Amino acid sequence: MQPLIELNNIQKVYHTDAGDVAALRGVSLRIESGEFVAIVGASGSGKSTLLNVLGLLDRPTGGRYLFEGRDVSRLGRTALAHLRNRKLGFVFQGFNLLQRQTAADNVELPLLYGGVPPGQRRSRALELLKLVGLESRATHTPNQLSGGQQQRVAIARALANRPRILLADEPTGNLDSSTGAEILQELRRLNREQGQTIILVTHDLAVAAAARRLVTVRDGRIASDHHQGEPRPVEERAAPASPLPANARPAVTRS
Ligand code: ADP
Ligand code: MG
Repeated sequence: MQPLIELNNIQKVYHTDAGDVAALRGVSLRIESGEFVAIVGASGSGKSTLLNVLGLLDRPTGGRYLFEGRDVSRLGRTALAHLRNRKLGFVFQGFNLLQRQTAADNVELPLLYGGVPPGQRRSRALELLKLVGLESRATHTPNQLSGGQQQRVAIARALANRPRILLADEPTGNLDSSTGAEILQELRRLNREQGQTIILVTHDLAVAAAARRLVTVRDGRIASDHHQGEPRPVEERAAPASPLPANARPAVTRS
């Protein structure tokens, strides 16, 4: 089967006044539809750069990126934006919701950009809010919602266009550990029950343990890549002491 994503020797060099920074130094990675992948690594290892390349937010400076078999490495800005809006959903650490808009309006936003008519937008938004357990909060604005609820709204928004992939950069970074565990449960449920492909970036091994596959990045390269089997329930991982079984624990320093 053709992989959903195939990266071949991807490089990313940032040019700065202080000199060049090689953030990705030859990353090759295949991701199949239906996977739940955690990309883990210390701060500065290149995780966000990798996620931004995967999410078509940033272009690699070398290598080849095949998305659904199509070479997207050299697509122009408009073509990338179009592909991104139709195929990808993003969840960020800071939720990134519009503060003056209701939960339903926030979820509708990608549908608005996609040209979906108003009535359809609203019913789809309510369906998505129901999916994440927030049907009773549709008319609330972000400041009337808890952090965990705001992140659920952001997840609903990310799913609005039925993306091939949900990409999440430190999605529990602004949440307390029990709320973070709830969000991870939600992602696992979406993966298991809806077959949603998820790529999650984190520096936290306890968070990464929610995924089925663990890719460790170190100094812009993939240091390890393995399947974790059926992950343990999130509640059991609350203690940070030994979040992964010893054989699945890569050498990553916490940041
Ligand atoms: P992580 O998400 O793992 O913390 P990043 O992908 O953000 O790591 O960064 C990887 C490396 O690239 C770091 O050395 C960082 O300083 C550098 N970097 C990231 N973004 C930029 C940028 N826009 N300009 C210059 N350097 C950058
Ligand atoms: Mg980062």
